[in-house]
Amino acid sequence: MSEKEVVNNKISKTFCILPWIHVSTKTNGEMRLCCTTSASSAGKSNDKKFGGKLGVFRSDTGSPLNLASAGLLKSWNSDYMKTVRSQMLKGEIPSSCQKCFKEEASGVNSKRIWETEYWSRQVSINDLVANTKEDGAVPEKIQYMDLRFGHLCNLKCTMCSPHDSSSWIKDWKTINPQIKNDHLQGIMSWDNEGRADGASYEWYKNPEFWSDLLSQIPHMQQLYFAGGEPLILKEHFELLEECIRQGYAKNITLRYNSNGTYIPEKVLTLWQKFKYVRFGFSLDSFGAMNSYIRYPSKWADIEKNLRALDNTPSNIEVTMACAVQALNMYYLPEFIQWKLSQDFKKINAYPHGAGLINFHFVYHPANLNVKMLPTPVKDAIHDKMEKFIVWLEERFAGNKEFLKNNYGVKRLRSMVKFMYSEDWSNRFCEFQEYIALLDKTRGTSLEETFPEFYEVLRPHMDKAYFSVRGDTEI
Ligand code: SF4
Repeated sequence: MSEKEVVNNKISKTFCILPWIHVSTKTNGEMRLCCTTSASSAGKSNDKKFGGKLGVFRSDTGSPLNLASAGLLKSWNSDYMKTVRSQMLKGEIPSSCQKCFKEEASGVNSKRIWETEYWSRQVSINDLVANTKEDGAVPEKIQYMDLRFGHLCNLKCTMCSPHDSSSWIKDWKTINPQIKNDHLQGIMSWDNEGRADGASYEWYKNPEFWSDLLSQIPHMQQLYFAGGEPLILKEHFELLEECIRQGYAKNITLRYNSNGTYIPEKVLTLWQKFKYVRFGFSLDSFGAMNSYIRYPSKWADIEKNLRALDNTPSNIEVTMACAVQALNMYYLPEFIQWKLSQDFKKINAYPHGAGLINFHFVYHPANLNVKMLPTPVKDAIHDKMEKFIVWLEERFAGNKEFLKNNYGVKRLRSMVKFMYSEDWSNRFCEFQEYIALLDKTRGTSLEETFPEFYEVLRPHMDKAYFSVRGDTEI
């Protein structure tokens, strides 16, 4: 049965397993259905009239439910969650889930599809649905948690913000007052510096959260850590140690999104006690381009840690996860060629990402979304990608499995389709202003780091970009 058939045939055309097994946290303690939920409302308990902070669990009165004060288990059967489950069982698309359905319309294997397919092999969907009450309530049995213990991070990536990374705060304080474009100001706003509506980057210190979470360890099948940077967080280590102490580590798969700059010996030792570890190494390009995007990482550290992870025991799976955005899409062919030249033993070994790299999109901030590139720039990316696909097809000629794999050539084509799916080029000015301010603040250079791409962009750059950078106007 194909992944699509698994999803479509089981319960309803809009069913996703996650609201039955999963809670995703945000760095500030808010909860959501998953890390993909779109910025849109999810029915009566999460409507715009309640404040429009969309995709976030809300109480009956409309205020966001935050783990700094609201209980994890109480929130599990909140009105918000019950409404989403009921909508899915009726075949409706919850507003918070629009992103998945939009991706599917572009031919992308959405998170809804791959998560439901993956989990349908671990749990009985029929049992989950049979145990759902008429109002959408389900037993207190959370099997999969996405945990972001605050925003502590050692990097300040171009697509991140102070909300995601504590290292961003200094640059944000420099850049924010200089922004002229209204949209960009909106994108760069940091609501009450992360403390709006009772939110806190130290939400995880709430004892009720810990007692709820620890009570779920016997049910837990997967713990997913992102951040911030999970491998520098002491609470991440404490939770792993507690799973081992309770004797359930052997049932639990650990999943990570990590910037891979710090892989301590201690974590390699703890991982040996767990059922499986899926380590997603966030890497957006190679060499200086990665250091520019994942600033200020050092490429030598990344290479060293990739080699170390490539030589770990067999219960550790390592994949490279690339966030596709305006800065790196032009160079994806070179990035894939670099990966293929490395001859890693296990990193993205086939079938992971078809043996290439795992790709996902940067939707926010909009000023880095590939949709905002001017059409001639998109055309240049498209031409380059098509030539590369010919090269790939020649290299893998005769390998039918690779050629029909959803994460190989098909994925590259679907990313191009996504880029063309909407024209946001009226927002290209936001990209220019943002990059100019970033370069001025950090002493980096778009032109020197991405020279070929810069030449493609140059005819479309306007005077504002050069005046911010202090260059001679063209
Ligand atoms: S449908 Fe998509 S956005 Fe909604 S919960 Fe599932 S994976 Fe998340």
